[in-house]
Amino acid sequence: MLKQPKVPSKTAPPSPPLAEMPNTTITSIHPRAYSWKHNSPASKGRFSVSCSSSQAYDIVIVGAGIIGLTIARHFLLHSDLSVAIVDKAVPCSGATGAGQGHLWMINKTPGSATWDLAWRSHQLWKTLAQSLEDQGLDPAMELGWKQTGSLLIGRTDADSDMLKGRVKQLYEAGLKPEYLCSSDLFKEEPDMLVDKDTAAAFLPDDCQLDAYRTVAYIEKTNRNFVSKGRYKEFYDDPVKCFIRSDSNGGVKAVQTSKNILHSKKAVIVAAGCWTGCLIQDLFRKWGMELYVPVRPRKGHLLVLENFNFLILNHGLMEADYLSHPTVSGIDSSDHENNLSVSMVASIDAAGNLLLGSSREFVGFNTNLDESVVSYIWKRAGEFFPKLKMLSLSDISARRKVRIGLRPYMPDGKPVIGPVPGLANVYLAAGHEGSGLSTALGTAEMVVEMVLGYPGKVNTSPFSVHGVLD
Ligand SMILES: Cc1cc2nc3c(=O)[nH]c(=O)nc-3n(C[C@H](O)[C@H](O)[C@H](O)COP(=O)(O)OP(=O)(O)OC[C@H]3O[C@@H](n4cnc5c(N)ncnc54)[C@H](O)[C@@H]3O)c2cc1C
Repeated sequence: MLKQPKVPSKTAPPSPPLAEMPNTTITSIHPRAYSWKHNSPASKGRFSVSCSSSQAYDIVIVGAGIIGLTIARHFLLHSDLSVAIVDKAVPCSGATGAGQGHLWMINKTPGSATWDLAWRSHQLWKTLAQSLEDQGLDPAMELGWKQTGSLLIGRTDADSDMLKGRVKQLYEAGLKPEYLCSSDLFKEEPDMLVDKDTAAAFLPDDCQLDAYRTVAYIEKTNRNFVSKGRYKEFYDDPVKCFIRSDSNGGVKAVQTSKNILHSKKAVIVAAGCWTGCLIQDLFRKWGMELYVPVRPRKGHLLVLENFNFLILNHGLMEADYLSHPTVSGIDSSDHENNLSVSMVASIDAAGNLLLGSSREFVGFNTNLDESVVSYIWKRAGEFFPKLKMLSLSDISARRKVRIGLRPYMPDGKPVIGPVPGLANVYLAAGHEGSGLSTALGTAEMVVEMVLGYPGKVNTSPFSVHGVLD
């Protein structure tokens, strides 16, 4: 049940008590480590409030991308806690709205730090799709669900050896991969350019979703709890600061541009690529510094609506995707020599051809870059010669480009866990190019942590490390 706390609006809360701040310095030790230090007098903790309302929830989630929304869903379905979710804009405005929707295991490596999380998530997505079917609903309509399998394509001898090794690894991990030589591959994908050196690793069980349909479905599920007083969305309402508790030094409330949202149990920061800056800003107001090395990694995705010019029976990814090699010779000053483009192709549940995708570090810039779109198109043409018969201007009427900022972590692992020294604040961010596929496992992990349940997946690879001086 929601309670209205006795915090009058339009009054400034007391400044954070310095005595309750951890008297520690934490210094970075490796790429995912954070640094944390006290650096200012108490006056820095003062801020003014001009809020219209003040409400209390057990859980306050910052960020309504796929990660925040699925965490909200998991709390609502698997506990009796109340949840508020806050976003500076709306759900698909972040990386989620640009996602290609592949829930693939073909590009994941058994035994790697993220394997168990990816595998658990994969199972949870399949269970969700199955449960929709069991209720007489169509997962394709609700989630944009498709199970067409995925192909990892190699074009050299060295690629073939790598693909054979990957098939063996995936098989030993309990999956059912197949190695396709060039003739087998040609039978699967007749529109693809297949020569004697082309081969593939094939995972028939791999599936995909549509981010927009899935987000709409999750919001619909979450909103079933509104009437029970357990769920509320605060969109177009950016978080401005955290308010600290006088008694235990934890965060007692989140102040947005319009509201104060008190948190009785936990605050979860799932703000994608903005998480690092946001946390830094929020903590600086208390005279503390916390550095989380999440960075925006821009991606373009080319969408050709109702595109039936090409037969594509499965989802396709070129082997280079695994290493993201840098593109050279592209004519744009923006790329700082760090642009990579790997061919990833699929057809979504609405019949649109999705061609991905680029990666580059250009800060928080989300401007359309036609040179990148042209490169994606050119790269796709190298795999599908039919596409060379069309120029991008021929298809401009049915063309859309989605642009998003993947939350990149230097060591390739998301940060999921409590912020040391602030036991009621949790981070769930940094999923880079796998946030859709690993969302349900992340959500389950966060809920288990907050409720103190034993974890189904080892959480230690994802914790934020630091050294106490
Ligand atoms: C081109 C492209 C293709 C991709 N393809 C795939 C794929 O096939 N499969 C896959 O698994 N993943 C894919 N991804 C990655 C996936 O989209 C991301 O990993 C995932 O969407 C990250 O979700 P998120 O919720 O962490 O971040 P976001 O979706 O970015 O959500 C973060 C939210 O936080 C909000 N926020 C930020 N600051 C504040 C604030 N101060 N106050 C309140 N709210 C705030 C933002 O408005 C935003 O809505 C792709 C990404 C791109 C760009």
